[in-house]
Amino acid sequence: GLSVDGFSGLIRDVADFPKPGILFKDVMPMLADGPAFAAAVAAMAAPWRDARLGAVAGVEARGFIFGAAMARELGVGFVPVRKPGKLPGEVHEIAYALEYGSDRLQVQRGALAPGDRVLLVDDVLATGGTLAAAASLLAGLEVELAGGAVLIELAALGGRARWTSASPLLATLRY
Ligand code: IMP
Repeated sequence: GLSVDGFSGLIRDVADFPKPGILFKDVMPMLADGPAFAAAVAAMAAPWRDARLGAVAGVEARGFIFGAAMARELGVGFVPVRKPGKLPGEVHEIAYALEYGSDRLQVQRGALAPGDRVLLVDDVLATGGTLAAAASLLAGLEVELAGGAVLIELAALGGRARWTSASPLLATLRY
């Protein structure tokens, strides 16, 4: 709604969330609108149609929403990259630094087939730490990182510099 692309007008700016001084991009009003959600997913998926993907991996939590929808759109499977303790069975894990402390991301062992071309998806690229950690996690597996896809890049935060893979990192919207 209210934008040429049919979806960006439904992304809401929320000041001081989740902390004072942060201007948060809230995609929930866009997700709640059927045509807008469809248009956003189509725009995210379009560049990857001929990329011979084997799977889409989405980062918890909103990366699941966009990643699963893109996987369905592209006709491949979806693999979740999750916070610790959520995935049963054996997992691959990576630890990464946060502003205060550290966190970990996990993917199930065997979820991605050796040689798969994997597209990594999240909703927002901010400082880039999350996507860089997820890319490092995949780099330790026997898969090929085909690229990264985010709906929104907050360009002023410079997160793109932390994407060290030679594969493309594509952002549908840049603010
Ligand atoms: P980064 O690690 O600083 O790049 O932060 C990216 C992660 O935080 C992603 O998983 C996003 O879901 C989340 N995030 C950061 N900023 C925003 C925002 O403005 N809106 C929605 N999610 C955000």
